[in-house]
Amino acid sequence: MTTDEDRGQDHSHEHAHGHSHEHGEMSELSDTQLRVRSLETVLAEKGYVDSAALDAIVEAYETRIGPQNGARVVARAWADPEFRAALLDDASTAVNTMGNVSPVGSHLIAVENTVERHNMVVCTLCSCYPWEVLGLPPTWYKSAPYRSRAVLEPRAVLSEFGVTLSDETEVRVWDSTAETRYIVLPVRPEGTEGWSEEQLAELVTRNSMIGTGLAQRSDGKSGDS
Ligand code: FE
Repeated sequence: MTTDEDRGQDHSHEHAHGHSHEHGEMSELSDTQLRVRSLETVLAEKGYVDSAALDAIVEAYETRIGPQNGARVVARAWADPEFRAALLDDASTAVNTMGNVSPVGSHLIAVENTVERHNMVVCTLCSCYPWEVLGLPPTWYKSAPYRSRAVLEPRAVLSEFGVTLSDETEVRVWDSTAETRYIVLPVRPEGTEGWSEEQLAELVTRNSMIGTGLAQRSDGKSGDS
């Protein structure tokens, strides 16, 4: 079982932040990690869980459940206007109709980038993230500088990620919580008319679905040019 305290959590902010995180000197593990470890031991001893099954869940997040799932969602939305409309209306329901993507909870919201508006996602309080479609969050997503600066100076953060937007483009920052997780629907790169969903999915990076990147063709042509 992992000791990554963020992995797989589905907390409320009240719960997650309602107590202080005191890291005792007696151990290098955080109190959350210790609690997870104790819980796993007790449940395994009672026969409620088996460690192999837990390892399989962790392995799924490390391998099969990653940004390739979100990329399939985006590619379908680019290729199929009806799916795009359904996704923007109710992302959880739309994703759960796809079949080739793991089921998502009822908290997923899709926000669409356009020339007029660029969307960017953060969790200012901790690290809420749409695991089912994006897999494990990148380290920077959980860092204090990203969590504060994404709100205070989003354009500066974007430029550090190599994203320069027109002054005409409004930047909208979405703050994730336990109840609401966001996936950005990036602008479809130019010159991709007639591409298959598989080809389109190749253009969709993890960061483009967080809003800290753009979907780009390998020749550098992005949808936001
Ligand atoms: Fe959070």
